[in-house]
Amino acid sequence: MSEGARHLGEVKGRIEQAARAARRDPSDVTLVAVSKMHPADRVRELLVAGHRVFGENRVQEAQEKFPALKVEYRDLQLHLIGPLQTNKAREAVTLFDVIQSVDREKLAATLAKEMARADRRPDCFIQVNTGEEPQKAGILPNDLDSFVAACRDTHKLPVVGLMCIPPVDEEPALHFALLAKMAARHGLAKVSMGMSADYETAVRLGATHVRVGSALFGQRH
Ligand SMILES: *Cc1c(COP(=O)(O)O)cnc(C)c1O
Repeated sequence: MSEGARHLGEVKGRIEQAARAARRDPSDVTLVAVSKMHPADRVRELLVAGHRVFGENRVQEAQEKFPALKVEYRDLQLHLIGPLQTNKAREAVTLFDVIQSVDREKLAATLAKEMARADRRPDCFIQVNTGEEPQKAGILPNDLDSFVAACRDTHKLPVVGLMCIPPVDEEPALHFALLAKMAARHGLAKVSMGMSADYETAVRLGATHVRVGSALFGQRH
């Protein structure tokens, strides 16, 4: 068994335990394997072990690794989890199956245009800056209502959920609970939250997507 396959088994086991402890169905939690800064061979280890859902935070890096893998594994699902510049929206719509980082009106408008052009509609998550950190991407909680309305009604984006990255120095559970509550309020079924250090907490608080990198692939260099 590869090291990747072994780590995959461990993380999936923990997700299952956390889900059962919260009386949730483990199959309602999707593990997004974050492969940024790791080569395609490491991605392949997980593909061979049966895993199909991956996340990358940069369009260009994903373009270098994933097109060939997607030809080989037709059911591979690729999520964009990092900030997206409008001038990369066309590439993103072509390559990614899910865009988790929709965070401003100009990007929403550009994505809508590129989706119409490519006749491809990746599911979208709205990224929320739950910690209201000035340097961090994401819509501020106070602006969420109008942004959700703009994405849905003006731009007709396929918005399926919310995503957050809590501040590093704060208790993540508070942010996870807040994000889950905001998603429910907007009738959004999907909630992307939790990384290597806190994905079990996120599962307990309702995550439908956890984004796990180093616990699967090891440290990034
Ligand atoms: C890198 C990254 C992750 C994974 O982080 P780990 O701590 O390695 O699990 C999750 N989400 C986002 C947005 C990331 O950029």
